Amino acid sequence: MKTKKAGKNVPGHPMEELIRTERLPHIWCAGCGIGTVFGSVMAAIQKSGYDLDKTAIVSGIGCTARMAGYIRLDSFHTTHGRALPFATGLKLANPELKVLVVSGDGDLLAIGGNHFIHTARRNIDITVICVNNLNYGMTGGQVAPSTPFGAKTTTSVTGCPEEPFNFCYLASACGAVYVARWTSLHIRRLTNSITEAMQKRGFGFVEILTPCPTSFGRRNKIGTALETLKFYHERSVIRNDIDPKEAPIDFGSNIVVGKFVDTERPTFLDNYQLSCRKQIGDWPNFEGTMVQDNQAGDKTYYHER
Ligand code: SF4
Repeated sequence: MKTKKAGKNVPGHPMEELIRTERLPHIWCAGCGIGTVFGSVMAAIQKSGYDLDKTAIVSGIGCTARMAGYIRLDSFHTTHGRALPFATGLKLANPELKVLVVSGDGDLLAIGGNHFIHTARRNIDITVICVNNLNYGMTGGQVAPSTPFGAKTTTSVTGCPEEPFNFCYLASACGAVYVARWTSLHIRRLTNSITEAMQKRGFGFVEILTPCPTSFGRRNKIGTALETLKFYHERSVIRNDIDPKEAPIDFGSNIVVGKFVDTERPTFLDNYQLSCRKQIGDWPNFEGTMVQDNQAGDKTYYHER
């Protein structure tokens, strides 16, 4: 169904070509940061200049995952935690497609955590945008792998006893070629990062810290959405090019944001094609390797001379 254009005397929305206005109003709460990220994603898609008929977006389940339903692209709102396998299948079946994944921290890195590490390890050529609101917002505010130590959620009423994941460090350690973190306040930098990640060949990861005033903010007395943004404004420190290991999310200190990784390595499809052509390269030659048992029963491996 085509979006109804604005009337003769009503100016159109600048993102009109990318919004399924017939699906509005959206479900997001007043003050939620997801709307800002949605704007940045659409701006990056426009800026990158990719053919919209060859751009697809995939999401899992959760507040952020609704984005796939509001954007006028070929979009897939899939099952919980499974956005990355769907995106991988899409990319491998049609390598010409530019594939984006947008989902929340719980979806991508709790139930979807195993898929996340392997998609990054394989260097599947997709861009993953993770909205980190520090809890499971849609289902009532349960604890998530992003919930800061000590924070209150419906399933950690006396304070979260676990240390959270550092998603950027995880992505980098698994082999992502592009890794950045911003807050929903850093709109220009965020849009640039999503654009850059889309232009990379390989697994790009952009994390965005966003206010969830309804579920997380209320229980943790952070205040209104505006006050959360002020908090991010005062605490955010930009440190580009640092090892993301040095950038855990610590609410007792500064919030480190920036572009941490921008590198190159062959994608899964590059290596798969080499493998199909038997050009993957030589496995080390172990011919002549001997095994000798010592008295303690340990095995010693050495090359015969
Ligand atoms: Fe946003 Fe939280 Fe509301 Fe979900 S529950 S729409 S994350 S404010």
